[in-house]
Amino acid sequence: SNTLHIVGGGMAGSEAAWQAANAGLDVVIHEMRPKVETFAHHTGKLAEMVCSNSFRSDDHEQNAVGLLHWEMRQANSIIMAAADQHRLPAGGALAVDREPFSAQITDTLRGLDNVTIVEEEVDHLPGEGNWLFTTGPLTSPTLGEAIAHETGADRLAFFDAIAPIVYADTIDMDVVWAQSRYDKGETEDERKAYLNCPMTKDQYEAFIDALLAADKTEFHEGETATYFDGCLPIEVMAERGRETLRHGPMKPVGLTNAHKPDEKAYAVVQLRRDNALGTLFNMVGFQTKMKYGAQTEVFRMIPGLENASFARLGGIHRNTFMNSPTLLDGEMRLRTRPNIRFAGQVTGVEGYVESAAMGLLAARYAIAELTGATLPPVPATTAMGALVTHISGGAEAKTFQPMNVNFGLFPPVDLKGGRKNRPARYKAYTDRAKADWQAWLSAFDTEPA
Ligand code: FAD
Repeated sequence: SNTLHIVGGGMAGSEAAWQAANAGLDVVIHEMRPKVETFAHHTGKLAEMVCSNSFRSDDHEQNAVGLLHWEMRQANSIIMAAADQHRLPAGGALAVDREPFSAQITDTLRGLDNVTIVEEEVDHLPGEGNWLFTTGPLTSPTLGEAIAHETGADRLAFFDAIAPIVYADTIDMDVVWAQSRYDKGETEDERKAYLNCPMTKDQYEAFIDALLAADKTEFHEGETATYFDGCLPIEVMAERGRETLRHGPMKPVGLTNAHKPDEKAYAVVQLRRDNALGTLFNMVGFQTKMKYGAQTEVFRMIPGLENASFARLGGIHRNTFMNSPTLLDGEMRLRTRPNIRFAGQVTGVEGYVESAAMGLLAARYAIAELTGATLPPVPATTAMGALVTHISGGAEAKTFQPMNVNFGLFPPVDLKGGRKNRPARYKAYTDRAKADWQAWLSAFDTEPA
């Protein structure tokens, strides 16, 4: 049958429904609200923005999320059209008037003849039919259990505990050296997957003082602290004792400073390669609830990270997401059940725009499959492609945590002498992405209605 069932009418589900309906599919949206509530949603409307009203930067030449906006607009995105229509003045950011935004999306989808909206909670993964699950970070607990049952409990997380991620090319390699603890690892590549930032006693003490003094974010209501075993925020560890970090994630053992072999570091911050490209490194064990401004300030005190720039900062939130790199194929199908796709935040992307973007892409793959069209893989050089490549295999599966779109996910551009010139590099990324995205879209042989 040509019916696509979409579970969850949030950012990803609404976009997917629009794309699929426009391509002529029959669409059934199964949305549990307002019958079943979440702690963050307050309405029964589709595409509700649960927290901030920002789609972040709209700069499509210098910013990866701005580029994602651009790509989505080219693909006739309803989320972008409604955001543009209800845009609020906010400098370079795309701020959105949330109520008319979600009202417009709800009314538009309700008004389409080939879209049916069913108010119900789906509590299992159906064996028959074509399904797209876009149930988001607050996937209902019963469905969460069903997903965990299918994937294995260790492949579904209920919290993210995000350690900051640093762009590799902003790390000072004159201070930092590559070495795994006790030189563990089968291959040279594995032994070089870690970078080490050494600290003297004075630097460590100053760092602990800064951690203790930094501004922290409070937990949302409905976020319990049961996840704390195993992933304590570093500032909480520091509160437990000034030496706790030095015996935990900052322990200096099993490492020899390649620049100063005779100097024993008092503490070491380790970073681990976060993607196959080697452009991103995450700070091992550095999950934190410090406010973003405080994080940048405190982490730049770490030797070697004085000029670090962050692909994403740390955080801890209620967030249901799957270990997509081991579970999804490149077309976002569950490998064990190809009649089911996943998209949105539950697949380990982070943010309204990223979630909607993945809904758009999953719908396009579903449309192609149901109409017998051939769709080449989306180029990894586009923002869409960089994100989907990351979640479907580019990311390290073992340490997989939700990811915003950023230029670190893109295959590097070759710019003669231009590596240090960031604006030129970003422009090269976005120019390449736009050309490749246009080409990919025109290969899509289902014309929008
Ligand atoms: P959602 O938009 O949440 O949509 C999922 C839908 O599925 C919901 O409508 C839900 O009711 C429904 N659903 C769930 N389970 C079932 C079921 N079993 N059956 C039927 N329906 C179901 N991102 C930002 O960019 N900026 C922010 O400020 C921001 N703040 C956030 C604050 C909180 C508290 C949370 C939890 C997340 C936040 N996010 C934010 C992250 C994320 O971008 C948004 O949650 C985004 O809405 C995710 O889009 P989605 O489509 O994947 O999920």
